[in-house]
This record gives sequence, structure tokens and C-alpha cells, in this order.
Amino acid sequence: MRLKLKFEFRITLIYLLIGFLWILFSDRLLELVTSNPVNLTHLQTYKGWFYVLITGLLLYYFIKRHLIKLRTAEQKAKESDRLKTLFIQNISHEIRTPMNGIIGFSELLKNPDIDDEQRAKYINLLSKSSDQLLSIVNGLLDISLIESGSQKINSREFSLNAIMDDLYETTRPVIKKDVLFSVKKGLHGADSVIIADDVRIKQILDNLLNNANKYIEKGEIAFGYKLKGADIEFFVKDTGIGIDRKNQEKVFDRFYKADPEGNRLFEGLGLGLSICKALASLLGGRIWLESEPGKGSVFYFTIPYVPVIKKYSRKARSRQKENIPDDMTILVADDDEPSLKYIKEILDNKGIHVITVSNGLDAVKTCRKNKISVILLDLKMPGLSGFDAIKQIRTICPDIPAIAQTAYAMSMDREEAISAGFDDYLAKPFTKEQLIETILKYKKN
Ligand code: ADP
Repeated sequence: MRLKLKFEFRITLIYLLIGFLWILFSDRLLELVTSNPVNLTHLQTYKGWFYVLITGLLLYYFIKRHLIKLRTAEQKAKESDRLKTLFIQNISHEIRTPMNGIIGFSELLKNPDIDDEQRAKYINLLSKSSDQLLSIVNGLLDISLIESGSQKINSREFSLNAIMDDLYETTRPVIKKDVLFSVKKGLHGADSVIIADDVRIKQILDNLLNNANKYIEKGEIAFGYKLKGADIEFFVKDTGIGIDRKNQEKVFDRFYKADPEGNRLFEGLGLGLSICKALASLLGGRIWLESEPGKGSVFYFTIPYVPVIKKYSRKARSRQKENIPDDMTILVADDDEPSLKYIKEILDNKGIHVITVSNGLDAVKTCRKNKISVILLDLKMPGLSGFDAIKQIRTICPDIPAIAQTAYAMSMDREEAISAGFDDYLAKPFTKEQLIETILKYKKN
């Protein structure tokens, strides 16, 4: 272990060492330069001056360096003390305000003479105060979990776009009425299915959106994400009051509010952004902001992009999304080869096992020999038509879901098909989605 001496010992030791070495070697050096006693006396004097100058400069350098360290530490301690005092004043105010609402409106609700409208108003205000208190308690719990290093990240597979839509829907009702609100999604479909901690991502965005809405009266709030290199970069933009340059770094500090000394216009403990910063770093990213007072702010944070697309095959993913059972077998009967190929291609791509036949007789035989989940029968086939085939199939296996498909889309066909024993009807041409949707209606859970 490295021995760390206190500053006063270190400086004295260095002083003594330099003095000792100087006395030891400087006289010998002078003897090499001259042996003349007069010159030697002069040089001795210069040597003395030189020694005083060098040690003086060194002393100045070391003491100054040490004092800078001490002064910065003192500044930090003072700032932390000031923030703590502010925090205590603030927390007492922040807790008392919603508590006041909760106690006050509970009391008012006890009055039996209030009408329904007043009761609804009080209940609404009571619930607002409770939410406010809950968010303060949650903030405090989060920061203490982060401080103690107990905050954990739980990554799982989820759709980022679904989260963004969800946030948009839940935030929209609380956005101020003169503010335009929008969401931008930077990835499409399967590319937006990622592995990360959705709860924490939502928490950061939720916090930033709450702030954006808090510090704006009218204008615009937009949030979203885009792919940037190997990261996903999220943003929350507002055209609100903005933050001046000197406060831009500090707002991420615990308990820091950009208006701590002025008239306190906004509620909050100054914890939200420090929680966001800690969470972003736990998620493997970083957080920063760009802002101009009076114009607005943009908060950014990143997380590494881990798409599920790399992990699973496309087939497995779409099966998972649509919840297609593993053991699903579809029997498709159609005398038109392109139609048969079209249906087989769609179902194959979904990982559904398909048996194809080209006439009604083979369809009946296949039902006899195989365990079929859903039957898809063309109504107009040579030999045994779809109508005749289903009647025979119903005597063998009365419960297999059967879907009729035909190019003659007349309402009469539909009714006839249902009364012949089909469960459903698909009119050609049908889309991939229509086919899958109809089949999945009959999957067994
Ligand atoms: P608070 O609970 O006070 O909102 P935060 O940590 O979330 O705490 O934010 C710290 C400070 O940063 C706020 O007090 C506010 O002054 C400033 N701030 C945060 N977001 C914004 C924003 N979108 N626009 C302007 N100022 C903001």
C-alpha cells in the first residue's frame, strides 16, 4: 500500500531533502569550478541566493496547488450544504402542499350537505394531491436506491414503438391545452423490437416529458428516438422557458433547481434529472441537454441498440408476435395452383405447417388421416366441391374449424357455406393479413 503522508510532512521532508543534497553536492561542484578563495566566496553567496530562490518557487508551487484543492473542496462542501438546506426547506414545502390538499379535501368530503358536482371536484383534487405526494415519495425512494447501488436493470424484449405510443397516449391528456404534442419513431416494425429495460426507459421519458410540460405555457413538445450509430438516441424537446448556460450542467445534480434562490415558481424537489442521469448511465448510455433561455430545451439520452432481429429468425418473431401455436396444421384445398401457392407461401412464412390438396376428395382423405387444426376449402372444385367435401368432413370430425374460400363473393355463397357446415368465409382476393386474422380466430389457446 502506498504511504500517503500529510501535506505538512511532505513539504517539510522535500525541503529538508533538497537542502541536504544542496549542501552535500554544491560545495564539491564549486571546488571543480575554481580554487581561488576570493572567487569561491562570491560563488558561495550566489549559491545561497540561488538556493533561496529555487526553494521559494517550489514552496509557492506546492502550497498553491494544495490550497486550490482545499478551496475547491470547501466550495463543494458549501454548495452541498446549501443544496441540502434548500432541499430540506423544499421537501417540507413539497410534502406539506399535497398533504394539505389531502387532509383539507378529505375533511370537506365529510360534509353531508355537498352536492354531487362539488363532491366530484373534491375527489378530483384529492386524487391530484395524492398523485403529487406519491411522485415525491417515489423520487426519494429512487434516489436512495440509486445512492445505495441497489437500483437494478432488468432487460427484456419489447417493442420500442409500442412504448412510445403508450407514452404518447398516457401523456397527451395532461399536456397543457396550448401546447402541440407529437411523437417521432425512428425505426419500423421488427427493427423496433429491442432488448433493454423498458420500465427505466419509460421512467426517464416520463420524467423529461413531465418537465417539458411543467416549464412551458404554450408552444410545442415533441419526443421520440432515432438510431445513431450503435445507439438509440432519445429526445424530448420543448419550446418552453429554457435553461441558461450556467445552469445547464448543474440541473443534473441532486436537489438542484435552476431557480433555487428566486421566487419559487415551480414545484419539484430537483431530483428528477439526477435520477434520469443515474438511470441513463445504468442503461449503458448518457444524458445531456441543449437549451436556450426563452426558446426551449432539448434533452437527449442514449442506450445501446440491441435489436431482437439479430437474435431470432424472422419466422420465430412473427410467430411470437401473433401468438401462433407451435403445433398448428392447416389443410388447404384449392384446384387453382397459384392460389394454393399464395396461401402456402403466406402460412409457411409464419411457420405454420400446411398440407395442400387440389380437390375435395383428397381433402376428406387428409382429414381422416391427419390431425388438422383448421381447414381452408375452396367452394368450387372439380369432382367433390367444397360444399360436398365439408358435409363428409363433418361426419368424420365435426369440430374442426373450417373456412370457405371462393372467388365468387356473393352474400348467397356466404350463407350457403355457413349452413353447409363452414365456420367462416373468405372472399378472394384476400390479403395476407385477412388470411392470418381469419385463421387465428380459430386457434386453440
Ligand atoms: P424538478 O423536480 O425541480 O423539476 P429536475 O431534476 O427534474 O427537478 O430538474 C431540475 C431543474 O432543471 C428544474 O428545477 C428546472 O429549473 C430545470 N429544468 C428541467 N427541465 C427543464 C425544462 N424542460 N425546461 C426548463 N427548465 C428545466
